[in-house]
Amino acid sequence: MTLTRADCAALDEADPLAAFRDEFVLPEGVIYLVGNSLGAMPRGAAARVARTVEDEWGRELVGGWNTAGWYAQPLTTGDRLAPLIGAGPGQVVVGNSTSIAVFQAVAAALRLRPGRRVIVSDVANFPTDRYVVEGLATLLGGYEIRPFEAPLTDEVAAVLLSEVDYRTGARHDVGQVTARVQAAGALMIWDLCHSVGALPVDVSQADFALGCTYKYLNGGPGAPAFLYVNPRHQAAAENVLTGWYAHAEPFAFEPGFRPADGIRRFAVSTPHVLSFAGLEAALDIWDRVDMQAVRAKSIALTSLFIDLLAPIETLRLATPRDPARRGSQVSFHHADGYPVMRALIDRGVHGDFRAPDILRFGFAPLYLRHVDVFDAAATLTDVLSKDLWRAEKYTHRLPVT
Ligand SMILES: *Cc1c(COP(=O)(O)O)cnc(C)c1O
Repeated sequence: MTLTRADCAALDEADPLAAFRDEFVLPEGVIYLVGNSLGAMPRGAAARVARTVEDEWGRELVGGWNTAGWYAQPLTTGDRLAPLIGAGPGQVVVGNSTSIAVFQAVAAALRLRPGRRVIVSDVANFPTDRYVVEGLATLLGGYEIRPFEAPLTDEVAAVLLSEVDYRTGARHDVGQVTARVQAAGALMIWDLCHSVGALPVDVSQADFALGCTYKYLNGGPGAPAFLYVNPRHQAAAENVLTGWYAHAEPFAFEPGFRPADGIRRFAVSTPHVLSFAGLEAALDIWDRVDMQAVRAKSIALTSLFIDLLAPIETLRLATPRDPARRGSQVSFHHADGYPVMRALIDRGVHGDFRAPDILRFGFAPLYLRHVDVFDAAATLTDVLSKDLWRAEKYTHRLPVT
């Protein structure tokens, strides 16, 4: 049975996460279904960033490295983020970008499996993950990259996969895949860019994990990435990006590199303090969020969107119907996906387009309501049934889709 708008409003009344919507700045007249690309701005972010700029930078100047905790930020923010991925203290370092974390994790995994010369990096992986693996394989020489479908032979050193596919929203069974990869003697590296903040994550069995904080976590544009290293590897794993923050005693200014103990050996260099401030504002919200409730609402919102659009024959669902097999995203194939998305955005419903033909919608349970999903589906139905997307102005491509 498909829900009416009144049914949706009733669900919003009973929603245990409803109050979080007020903690975000959402432009009037916009239904924002792009939280899987750049999360909405936490209401506290502007004041938090202003405090770092005016009080810390402005008044403390260089003293801020000690007095404002900037120096320790990669680790203190890592400990704060850890519960969101099922990790404990001393297991996560924050800084740099996801692409850099991919490089560090894959390089460390290869060093832990000398003699094995295959890296599995799936063709469905996000391009930067694949490109970085290609660059690393070229730098090292003698490595072969294979897709995930290939048999897991004893040549495989490491497997890099995204828990949730950025295009289709399909989700891997992390426990099952991790166990299979490790049974083959390889190391498992999970990319959690489309998982963290969208669903409960458990990295405890993974060897390495990483992801960005500007999508469902709402850390802000350019917010730093995170890298998890399982404690069982921390003594042996090497960070090939031997920046001074990874040194045992950065302020001893020794001539040669000596790695720090623990997760700090995966820090690289001076943290992006202003970007950390935005992330801290987001974590002020996440500290109070029950991830089981987030998952329940995510399943409700994505299922609702799928059900409401089921009658539209020109939309072909790209996302698994089984909620257990998807993240917090719904994607459809449509032959004219680009102009359809432009027409939709023009009417206040913001999704995005991923080549060649994917209409992509992310559902951030902290700030979206059931009525938003209802209205978004109604607008998309209109755009398609009335051919509104055929207007000439929607055919010119913008640089960022
Ligand atoms: C968004 C995303 C990235 C982004 O990497 P950056 O280094 O932050 O540009 C990487 N991998 C996946 C799977 C992503 O979804």
